[in-house]
Amino acid sequence: MQVDTLIVGGGIAGLSTAWNLGQLGGERVLVLERESAFGTHASAQNASILKELGEDSLTSELERRSARFLRNPPAGFADGPLVEECGLYLIADASSEEAFDDVLSRADGVLHEILTASQVRERLGFYRRPVTRAAFFPRDGRVQVPRLLAAFAEGAREKGVHLQTNAEVSGLLREDGVVRGATLTDGTEIRAKTTVLASGAWAGALAEKVGSRLRFRPTRRHLLVSAPTATVDPGGSILWHIDGRFYVRPERGGWLACAGDQTDVDPDRLELDPAEPRRISSVAAEAVTGFPSGPPQDRWCGLRTFSSDGSFVIGADPDLPGLFWVAGLGGAGIGCGPELGRTAARLLLGRAVDEPWVRDLSPGRFLAATPRS
Ligand SMILES: Cc1cc2nc3c(=O)[nH]c(=O)nc-3n(C[C@H](O)[C@H](O)[C@H](O)COP(=O)(O)OP(=O)(O)OC[C@H]3O[C@@H](n4cnc5c(N)ncnc54)[C@H](O)[C@@H]3O)c2cc1C
Repeated sequence: MQVDTLIVGGGIAGLSTAWNLGQLGGERVLVLERESAFGTHASAQNASILKELGEDSLTSELERRSARFLRNPPAGFADGPLVEECGLYLIADASSEEAFDDVLSRADGVLHEILTASQVRERLGFYRRPVTRAAFFPRDGRVQVPRLLAAFAEGAREKGVHLQTNAEVSGLLREDGVVRGATLTDGTEIRAKTTVLASGAWAGALAEKVGSRLRFRPTRRHLLVSAPTATVDPGGSILWHIDGRFYVRPERGGWLACAGDQTDVDPDRLELDPAEPRRISSVAAEAVTGFPSGPPQDRWCGLRTFSSDGSFVIGADPDLPGLFWVAGLGGAGIGCGPELGRTAARLLLGRAVDEPWVRDLSPGRFLAATPRS
């Protein structure tokens, strides 16, 4: 089989790229996902938070652009709203004020309110730790991820993109130094002008086998949902500590909580560490008045995969013609995914991409410093 663009991976990276390719007139596009459904790994394991002001200016730019899409998608794109704008409180303590001021220095054009000390007491009274800075972002919120992924997949299909589940790529085809497609575990060979690696935690390993010098770090993070409690307002806002080590938001009548763990893992051996939900519960009980002390109603872990500088990797591989990356989405792939897919599609189709920050996404940024072996 011969296609123009073969996309390996059907999480948000692959589906957003596929949908955008379809919209821009890309032809003969095929998405392969090895699971029986799309979006079952990182794209299903996250906290679904859209936070317009990211940790750095690139992430903030991508989140803002994605937020515009998510709030106002094209007519008929999805069968309901894609974001629940519950609002987000960004908070800092004495040790993180500098980081807070840095993030807020990029807040021009983002609707927000700086809270006074008395507003902090009044509105965040349930949070027991010291807060020296706080801002409220009323338009941040929770992304309806399954709806978004279904809309990307359906919209791509309508534009002629082929999407296949239960199709696992076992290796990339490399001939004369050029990547010319992939082989599936059932032996099928698919030849492609461009092969896009959007396979999340597994992208790095597939490419390493054909000589890529790019390296990725799959890491594990845990989340839990506490037992339901009357102290949670189901329509309440997200509370996010700027140091990234704690956030909570309402979920299923309880609190969804994260205590910011990050451990390197082999993605094929992802297992929940039972000590981690206990740690999250104890951190949350200390921080949040009335946080239920009993067993959580749910707990899980998921994969956040980072490039070697921690940022996204979108673009053609400079060593391996025919290979293109949409990888390293880390901990912001849901909030940034729509714009990352749009950027990837424009680059794949050779469209003019004038935004200067696109250079910061390029895989070429790593290779100057990495000797060939
Ligand atoms: C606990 C946690 C909380 C998070 N919270 C947030 C948040 O609040 N906001 C936010 O923006 N982001 C968040 N993230 C990050 C976000 O979930 C990820 O950045 C994003 O989902 C990555 O998407 P992906 O498509 O790159 O990877 P994935 O969703 O993992 O998709 C990769 C796909 O490739 C497939 N695949 C792999 N190998 C092959 C192969 N050989 N052949 C065929 N298919 C293959 C896999 O089966 C998988 O479906 C969080 C992540 C975690 C783990």
